Amino acid sequence: MDTRSRELFEAAKRHIPGGVNSPVRAFGSVGRTPRFIASAHGSRIVDVDGNEMIDYVCSWGPGILGHAHPRVIEKVREACGYGLTYGAPTEQEVQMAELLAELIPSMEVSRLVSSGTEAVMSAIRVARGYTKRDKIVKFKGCYHGHSDGLLVKAGSAALTTSVPDSAGVPADYTKNTLVAQYNDPASVEELFQANPEEIAAVVVEPVAANMGVVPPAPGFLEFLREITKQNGALLIFDEVITGFRLALGGAQEYFHVTPDLTTLGKIVGGGMPIGVYGGKHEIMEMVSPLGPVYQAGTLSGNPIATAAGLETLRILREDPGIYQRLEEKAQRIAETVREAAGEAVCVNRIGSLLSIFFTPEQVTDHESAVSSDTARYAEYFGYLLDHGIYTAPSQFEAMFVSDAHTGEDIETTCRVIRDCLRGMI
Ligand SMILES: *Cc1c(COP(=O)(O)O)cnc(C)c1O
Repeated sequence: MDTRSRELFEAAKRHIPGGVNSPVRAFGSVGRTPRFIASAHGSRIVDVDGNEMIDYVCSWGPGILGHAHPRVIEKVREACGYGLTYGAPTEQEVQMAELLAELIPSMEVSRLVSSGTEAVMSAIRVARGYTKRDKIVKFKGCYHGHSDGLLVKAGSAALTTSVPDSAGVPADYTKNTLVAQYNDPASVEELFQANPEEIAAVVVEPVAANMGVVPPAPGFLEFLREITKQNGALLIFDEVITGFRLALGGAQEYFHVTPDLTTLGKIVGGGMPIGVYGGKHEIMEMVSPLGPVYQAGTLSGNPIATAAGLETLRILREDPGIYQRLEEKAQRIAETVREAAGEAVCVNRIGSLLSIFFTPEQVTDHESAVSSDTARYAEYFGYLLDHGIYTAPSQFEAMFVSDAHTGEDIETTCRVIRDCLRGMI
């Protein structure tokens, strides 16, 4: 039953582009009507027709504790009592910056913004200001928000050109963004050789999670650390998804590779809009009002959002067992898929992030990710949705496991996935 969702979607399409405020929510690639959500608690999300589903989207990552954690909600309510925004500094922002420096030691100094997009855009500006170079390297299939310079794809002469990946982005805005292949050191080396002393930074998702989940090959992140250092470029880890997800200290703790700048989003806001960028003192001193790199925000460090984020991080810090529990639950799902589907699918999992690709290939980069049969993914997605399991409405997104998923939720999920795959494969 999705009568009310259908009605709302029709109404939404009249005044909102495609009926949604972010494209993937439209369910376009899975050919279904999006569910309009009425509420969510713990592991469950409830739509406007009263369907209760076990949620593995978790708002695309922020919901590591599940929905509406009572302690987070309490802090938000309390914060609301003091006013919503002041446009002036608060004590909580100091606590947040101190906690970030404690949990992610490379973030000695950090600045709060309001989204992951803003965080990455700003970190890149800092890297350019600091190195006095213009070019950056990103990887095909990695997503870093929707700022102009990052919406690129490799041009036909891959080494020299990249072209806008969206209408409305002037080619001039993307000409300084070079595109390499994820997990392919040679493609990065070539770019450094072809652009000596011109590359300000390499920006990477330390675990790619926006082409489906693609973990870094052994040594790949170490290689990026080394080549950037040798060439006087900065290494930026976009940890908007991996921050507090793989470990308290993010992917940099998990893999023991320390970037120069880090960007955060999603979990760090505890369900409210926050992004963060930060790094070493010496680099972050470039940011105004201390230095010449301008960056500002009316709602930056918003007290309600900061309260939600701070409490979320404190809960994670108090509970050292959480990452082990997440690992076990996600592993159980991954094993179920492998047992049910065998060689017909590729399951990539790291910690509580996983993706099921409908391809017999090993998915290690964008090329292999797009070898997945998206029609089969749509079929799988639809079956799960109809059986009360809410997963990403796109092949190229992660499945997020949260601490609120109970053993019973996981068993139910595994049973549905097994039935679905057995019927399909
Ligand atoms: C979600 C995401 C972003 C963009 O964050 P928004 O808050 O949606 O602007 C940037 N980088 C990565 C790796 C992301 O997953």
